[in-house]
Amino acid sequence: MLTPPAAKGKTISDILELIDWRRVLDTFSVPEYANSYEGEGFMGQALSLTSVRGREYYRSAGGKRGVVPVNKIRMEQMTWPEIKQAIASGFTTAVFGVGSTEQHGPHLPTMTDARIGDDVAERVSRKLGHALQARTVDVGISEHHLAFPGTISFKPETLALVLRDYVDSLVRHGFTRVIILPTHGGNFATTRQAIEAARKTHPGVEVTGFTDLLALTGFLNQVSARYGVSAGESGAHAGENETSMMMALEGGLVAADRFEPGYVGPHGEAEVKIIFEKGMPALTSNGVLGDPRTATAERGEDYLERLADFMISAISAKTTG
Ligand SMILES: [Zn+2]
Repeated sequence: MLTPPAAKGKTISDILELIDWRRVLDTFSVPEYANSYEGEGFMGQALSLTSVRGREYYRSAGGKRGVVPVNKIRMEQMTWPEIKQAIASGFTTAVFGVGSTEQHGPHLPTMTDARIGDDVAERVSRKLGHALQARTVDVGISEHHLAFPGTISFKPETLALVLRDYVDSLVRHGFTRVIILPTHGGNFATTRQAIEAARKTHPGVEVTGFTDLLALTGFLNQVSARYGVSAGESGAHAGENETSMMMALEGGLVAADRFEPGYVGPHGEAEVKIIFEKGMPALTSNGVLGDPRTATAERGEDYLERLADFMISAISAKTTG
């Protein structure tokens, strides 16, 4: 790369210009790094800052040599040329969450499901590698929460059209795989239908997602059990698990002085039916399914991380099997 005699008597900036940046970048573009936007993006940025030639190479290399100058994956924070280059470089998977704006008990903000969906979709994108995150859909189907102020609800047909337009737009830019991750109970059935419809519209594109609501609550309850938290406390809405996740993500918006239990009985198909048909007040007067009192931010981080892994394995099991 650089032999000691060549460096003799040179200033640091001279030496930086003598370095064979192509070899440096190739050295760091080993397969293990191929899915690591951090590794490559960080290297590229470091080179850009230190050397004019490094910067030139870094700028010109994207898309040709596996050197992907993508250090951001959230498209809402990127410019169109950055997104275009990322797609050309192989970032051809788009991932997005589908949350909601609805009451989450007396202690959590109405953004809860959208905020969690946004975070999990980002984790899934990073873990998958070569994936960009599209802006989270932050309103969902929450008819069953409308008895509580602040809830904004899409009708199922509205969400179906939103999801259709999302996929149509993403496919047009060259994404060949679209992953949709609902994190709000009301969105699951419509998301499942929207995925099926999009597959027919775009036969060459892999449209997929995680759409099993009871599997999701079941999984979270299993994680809770590791901590000695019962399924009833962990809950399906604004209980221990969602409260923990929000403490990890938006601690300043969690009103710990208003923690109180809601409905803590069994939560299966029968209860889901009651909620969707009669609304949340049929089961809970404060809007909580679960008990937030034992929630912690540390556990919230663990839930989020495991949830991302769980969704990835569920999606790969479905696409390979
Ligand atoms: Zn929620």
